[in-house]
Amino acid sequence: MSDILTKESICVVIGASHAGVNLAFSLRKEGWEGSILLFDKDPEIPYHRPPLSKTYLSNEEVNVLKSAESYQKENINLNLGVLVRSINRTDKTIMLSDGTNQAYDKLVLATGARPIIPPISGIETATHLYPLRTAEDVGHIRNAFHTSKNKRVVILGGGYIGLETAASIKKLGGTVTVLERETRILARVTAPEMSDFFMNLHAENGVEVLTDKNVTAINGTNGVNMVICTDESQFEADIIVIGVGIRVNSELANSAGLVIENGILVDETACTNDKDIFAIGDCTFHYNPHYNRHVRLESVQNAVDQAKVAAAAICDKHPVYNTIPWFWSDQYDAKLQMVGLSEGYNETLIRKEESESTKISIWYFKDDILLAVDAINNPKAFVLGTKFIKDGSKIDKSKLVDVSVPLKPDELLFL
Ligand SMILES: Cc1cc2nc3c(=O)[nH]c(=O)nc-3n(C[C@H](O)[C@H](O)[C@H](O)COP(=O)(O)OP(=O)(O)OC[C@H]3O[C@@H](n4cnc5c(N)ncnc54)[C@H](O)[C@@H]3O)c2cc1C
Repeated sequence: MSDILTKESICVVIGASHAGVNLAFSLRKEGWEGSILLFDKDPEIPYHRPPLSKTYLSNEEVNVLKSAESYQKENINLNLGVLVRSINRTDKTIMLSDGTNQAYDKLVLATGARPIIPPISGIETATHLYPLRTAEDVGHIRNAFHTSKNKRVVILGGGYIGLETAASIKKLGGTVTVLERETRILARVTAPEMSDFFMNLHAENGVEVLTDKNVTAINGTNGVNMVICTDESQFEADIIVIGVGIRVNSELANSAGLVIENGILVDETACTNDKDIFAIGDCTFHYNPHYNRHVRLESVQNAVDQAKVAAAAICDKHPVYNTIPWFWSDQYDAKLQMVGLSEGYNETLIRKEESESTKISIWYFKDDILLAVDAINNPKAFVLGTKFIKDGSKIDKSKLVDVSVPLKPDELLFL
C-alpha cells in the first residue's frame, strides 16, 4: 500500500465550492482513509453558484451542495470562514487567518475566481454597487432591490451572469438596463446569431440591452448613481451589478512557487509542478486532449470532473482528464445548453426546428470537424452534439440544416 493511503495521512483542500467539495467526497469514494480538511473563507455552508443569478434573487433558500450531515457522515472536516494565507511547501503546511498552521500530506487548491471590479472613475462613490459571485453578494442585491423605491438596475456586462441577472431582476419587477462594451453581447463565447437571439429575447421581455457602451465614470450622489459612458450617454441607477468577468485566485499558488499560466498549470491528473499539490476547477489551466490545447474553463462540469480525476490521482490511481466541456444558461423561458469549445471555428450552421421558433441550435465547424454546439430549448441537439464531438463524427451538413431530417445519428452521418 502507498504510504499516503493510511489513516494518518492528511489531505487539505483550500476552497469549498463545486471543485473542493466534490473532491472531498470523491476522495472517500476512492478509498482515502486519512483526514480530509476543507477550508473556505466564505462562512456559508457550501452551495450551488448557478442559481445565484437565476432563481436565488427571488428565492432566499440557498441550494446546498451537500447537507451538513453528509460531511459528518463521511468524516470530512469543514472549516468555514477561514482564510488560508500562505502555503509552505518545504515543511508542507498552510497558514490560516488566525495565524495557526495546518500540516498536509496532499494539498488541493480549489480557490476558484473572484469578480473583476473595473477601474472606473468614481466607482468608490457608487451606492448599492455589487458583484455577483457569492450568496452574500446576492443577499446585498436582494436587500437593496426590496428597499429601493424606483428599482432602476444597471448591469455592467452582457455576458451570461449579467444577462441572467437581468432576466431575474426583470421578473422581480425592476427596470433593467444592461451596458455592454463590445459591439455584441456574449461576443467572447458565442456566434453572432446567438447574440442576436438573446438581444431579441431581452427586448421582448422589456430589458434594455445596449452594446458599444463603455462605462468610464460613475457618479454616486444622494443614493442615486449616474453611470456615464464614453459616448456621453448617462443612465440613472439605484443599484449597479457588475458582471464583467473574473480573475483567477492564483496568488496563493503563485507565492508558493507553483507554475501559473492563465491559471494554475496542471497536468492531465490535475497535478501541479509539485507532486503533492493538485489544483482543480476555475483556478486551473489544464490540457484538453480532444482540442489538443490548454484551456481555462468557468463551469460546474469542469470543477466536478476535475475533482474526480484529482481524487483518483491522490489515491494512486492513474486517471486522465479527457472531457468535452459543457455549460448551460437559463434566461426567461430559454434554456441554453452548450457543448464543446467553439474557438477556431470557420463555419456555423443554424438549425431551427419547424415546430417552435425558439428551438434553435448552432453547430460550429472547423472545416468538417464539429467543434461545438449551442442548443436553445433543444436537449436532443445538445445530446447528439456531445456524441458527435466525442466520436469525431463526419456530419452531412446539408441534412443537418434540413429540419425535415430528424436529429438522429443514422440520418445525419456519412456512413
Ligand atoms: C452567478 C453565477 C452563475 C453561474 N452559472 C453557471 C451555470 O449556469 N453553469 C455553469 O456550468 N457554471 C456556472 N457558473 C460558474 C460556476 O459556478 C463555477 O465554474 C464554479 O463555481 C467553479 O467552482 P470552483 O470550486 O472551481 O470555484 P469557486 O466556486 O469560485 O470557489 C472557490 C472557493 O474558494 C474559496 N477561496 C479562495 N481562496 C481562498 C483562500 N485563500 N482561503 C480560503 N478559501 C478560499 C472561495 O471563498 C470560494 O468559495 C456560475 C457562476 C456564478 C458566480
